[in-house]
Amino acid sequence: MEQYSIGIDLGGTKISGVLLNRGYTLVKKARVDTGNTEKGEEIIQKILNMVKEFRNNYEITSIGIGCAGLINEREGIVQSSPNIKFLNNYHLAPEIEQKTGLKTFIDNDVKAGAVSELFIGEGKDVSDFVLITLGTGIGSAIVINRRIVRGHNNLAGEVGHLTLVEDGYLCGCGKRGCFETLSSGPAIKRYFLKRISEGESSKIMETVAGNPELIDVPLITQFAEDGDRLSLEAIEYSLHFITLVTSYFINLLNPQKIIFGGGLTKGLAPFFDRIYDNLPLYALDIPLNNVKIVKSDIEEGIATGAAIYGFMKARGEEI
Ligand SMILES: [Zn+2]
Repeated sequence: MEQYSIGIDLGGTKISGVLLNRGYTLVKKARVDTGNTEKGEEIIQKILNMVKEFRNNYEITSIGIGCAGLINEREGIVQSSPNIKFLNNYHLAPEIEQKTGLKTFIDNDVKAGAVSELFIGEGKDVSDFVLITLGTGIGSAIVINRRIVRGHNNLAGEVGHLTLVEDGYLCGCGKRGCFETLSSGPAIKRYFLKRISEGESSKIMETVAGNPELIDVPLITQFAEDGDRLSLEAIEYSLHFITLVTSYFINLLNPQKIIFGGGLTKGLAPFFDRIYDNLPLYALDIPLNNVKIVKSDIEEGIATGAAIYGFMKARGEEI
């Protein structure tokens, strides 16, 4: 009987699941709202229900879970999770394993995303790449010689917390001026609103009838595409720091590819020329001329990568 792996993307707003066959083809998928992130029992039950659905008619080898935060992947423990409070110091993988009888593994969500790039995405044909995820937060996963660089505590790649501005905005991590406070979705919105409060004008304000609470990043990217000057300025501010950090990766690691993923990448994609145009100001010529900058196009990358990770770990393979 053919064997399958279940992958779960456990996020602060939604839980996405995929069923993958041995050829890493997506067979089924599911999605539910995470709900109240302090109600651990309900969230665990949602995961178990999803697993139960997938198990009908399929022989399951393993479950893989991708989750934001500090994950002890060796023991299957979520040490801290910024978005799902009940998970702090939670032995998630052992619990799911005990309740399902299926081998269960967990990794950081961005690293799970990098696993899917490695085997079915932009990382398939290269040995060294960096995945940068842009969204509400900013993360990265570094792959060298087709292995994920984990560091001592599985925290390597926390690019969102590089300090880029001294005494800048306070970040969720407790420090100031992090990359994440300059280029994430909320950072773009904050920049835009700050300029409005300074007296700048934008056509967006007519669209939302002057109510700044109705402004979101999709609106800003859309207006920027239509040539709204202040929207474009907010996007360019974000892109400036993305360009800087991209150059750091290029100069430090000499990767073959830099892959951009995450929800914000789609909105910023029409403006990526600004990254290409400005990289020569910061990146060294030879590594710059040898790197490809691309966008991820994997559907459900985190859940898919988690499912592949589950297959590998169940076979005793490290990644
Ligand atoms: Zn930070």
